[in-house]
Amino acid sequence: MLPGILRQLSGLGGCTHPIRLDGHRTEYDVDTRTGEIGNVLHRLDSTSLPAGQLLVRCNNRRTTRCAACAEVYRRDTFHLITSGLRGGKGTPEHVATHPRVFATFTAPSFGPVHNRPSSGRPCRCGTHHDHEDEALGSPLDPDTYDYEAAVLWNAHAGPLWRRFSTYLRREVAAVAAYIAKYATKGAETATGALDRPLKFAAELAQLDISDHARRLIRTAWFLGARKDLEHLRLRAWAHMLGFRGHFSTKSRRYSTTLGALRDARAEWRRAQAAAANGPEPDTTYVLAHWVFAGTGLSDAEAWLAASLEPAPGTEGEPTWTVGETS
Ligand SMILES: [Zn+2]
Ligand SMILES: [Zn+2]
Repeated sequence: MLPGILRQLSGLGGCTHPIRLDGHRTEYDVDTRTGEIGNVLHRLDSTSLPAGQLLVRCNNRRTTRCAACAEVYRRDTFHLITSGLRGGKGTPEHVATHPRVFATFTAPSFGPVHNRPSSGRPCRCGTHHDHEDEALGSPLDPDTYDYEAAVLWNAHAGPLWRRFSTYLRREVAAVAAYIAKYATKGAETATGALDRPLKFAAELAQLDISDHARRLIRTAWFLGARKDLEHLRLRAWAHMLGFRGHFSTKSRRYSTTLGALRDARAEWRRAQAAAANGPEPDTTYVLAHWVFAGTGLSDAEAWLAASLEPAPGTEGEPTWTVGETS
């Protein structure tokens, strides 16, 4: 048996920025005949928990914020797409016989950038760039690269995508029942944006980011002062190079949903807890009250968490097993 604090930390499945909650959850017995609330069956008080608070996964989708939670999101998205292609998780298996198209759309060019030509020839700068070379995707000549257009394109990517998918659906309606379109790749993975908003432009100078990212962020910041671009809230999104987060669409009939996958996971956790604590009676009344008390782990908790291997049964936990059994 793990000491209490380790057990609590291992329940986070590697989340490094958990949400901390103060409060309690009390379970009462209910008389099935009279409906009266009876004895306290179980009481969980945050003060009695090893960390002094209830810790809940942050569920952030960004790797730079929380690698473990972003990984769960990535796997959910993977399952969502694959179930739509081969069935499973409530999607009939005959979808596997449907024709499918994988289309890749490329954003417009804002100026020549360092790349790896498929011909095997070197980049225009004369270098054979390694596929992990940070220069890839950055401008050959930053002074002629259209930074303003790049930021404005990022800022409009969401609405453009929505409009595109609306028209596409209209064009292909009949065959469109199972269309899924995904655009979850954030610009930050390519360019290296920041994981939190900027408060002052002056912060930019101290940040450890590429010159290209710095210039995109600075451009977003300055465009953000323009009255005619106010609605794009470019300062609030400057750290994302103008992008307002991930966006994705899928038709309702394509595959399962991220919500269903999350519910399945929560159900699985409840089942695990019930297996550990004995089954909950059907007739209980639960009173819970939780208040936000902060985020993250203390230094000691972080150190302990880092020493933990994934708890048995939580590796590969996301959804696969869960969905197959239902
Ligand atoms: Zn997390
Ligand atoms: Zn180059």
